[in-house]
Amino acid sequence: MNLHEYQARDLLRHAGIPVPPGDVAATAKEARMIAERLGGKVVIKAQVHAGGRGKAGGVKLADTPQEAEAIAGKILGMQIKGLTVHKVLVAPAAEIASEAYVGVIVDRAAHSATFMVSPAGGIDIEEVAAKTPEKIFRQRVDARYGLLPHQALGLAFHLYEDAGKARQAADILTRLYQVFLNCGGSLCEINPLVVTPEGQVLALDAKIVVDDNELDRRPDIAALRDESAEDPAEVTARRANLTYIKLDGNVGCIVNGAGLAMATMDLVKYYGGEPANFLDIGGSSNPEKVVNALKIITADPHVKAILFNIFGGITRCDDVANGIVAATKQFTVTVPIVIRLTGTNEQQAVEILNAVGMKALTDMDEAVKQAVANVTGGKAA
Ligand code: GDP
Ligand code: MN
Repeated sequence: MNLHEYQARDLLRHAGIPVPPGDVAATAKEARMIAERLGGKVVIKAQVHAGGRGKAGGVKLADTPQEAEAIAGKILGMQIKGLTVHKVLVAPAAEIASEAYVGVIVDRAAHSATFMVSPAGGIDIEEVAAKTPEKIFRQRVDARYGLLPHQALGLAFHLYEDAGKARQAADILTRLYQVFLNCGGSLCEINPLVVTPEGQVLALDAKIVVDDNELDRRPDIAALRDESAEDPAEVTARRANLTYIKLDGNVGCIVNGAGLAMATMDLVKYYGGEPANFLDIGGSSNPEKVVNALKIITADPHVKAILFNIFGGITRCDDVANGIVAATKQFTVTVPIVIRLTGTNEQQAVEILNAVGMKALTDMDEAVKQAVANVTGGKAA
């Protein structure tokens, strides 16, 4: 789950990291009122789950409350990387002497949390990694000890030669690790971490991604979810207890089990197709889940063929077949459906489908080839 910048800033502030004050506005007028209250020059920032807002015109400075209102009016409603801006953050504009990057992520390869810092901040860290990787410094964190003081200071000295600034940065890194642990983060980053002309180190932007599996035991963090900022299909899927990730292809996949879903996507690609999604209907699939899955997949206009791949175990093939029949009675599916099912209650499933003129395959290769042929016009590899 992604947090908005203003939410992430609050978490950092509560942990004692220096963050400028500020407030969120949903209208231009509210933005002006916040600017009046703050006084002086302000920065107006689009609150969407995307980086690179600055480059996209979603971060602007305003000298007066009137200007803040005008700029907020332009940014609200704007599209950034396909996402509509519903809120803006209004904060006092900081003066910037230098910009650095600091972040901590779950590093699966290292089996640990890993800090990354770079004196080349402000711009996308991916760009720094691609063009000047020598400007990124890393530190693994041993979960038993946390980020040790000498490690924090070692990282900080990669950012600043001056000991005073390095000590401020080390303190921020230590607190950032606490935020990361406490919110169940998979990523917490500050970009830019700035130094003001007075020599104060400040977090000007904050990005936090929380591991969804951590949310059940953190209701306060789960309450920060903003469904209006998320992909509508993913919201519908989560409510229906389906694991759904939208992808760029045109073969819609409905599969039981995450492993089989991954293997199915691989096979779609192997036969020259592109999966439109990852979708796991889970272990025990009642027909209602299948109806919901089909609703979500058919709502994606890119989908040109649908592939069911069901390996019946706890999931019963007849439940899935009943779901498919129920769905096609509720709404018209205009794209071809290829169904592969095998395992528990396979025979009943075949009878249910045949009764409405649908066919089922048992061979996975054959089914994937057919689904891909439906979108490539028969040119499956
Ligand atoms: P991002 O582009 O989505 O990462 O948004 P950021 O919040 O990082 O803002 C992008 C850039 O805008 C920063 O790197 C800064 O150079 C600039 N910026 C952001 N906030 C301020 C501010 O308070 N004062 C000034 N002078 N520049 C700012
Ligand atoms: Mn940034």
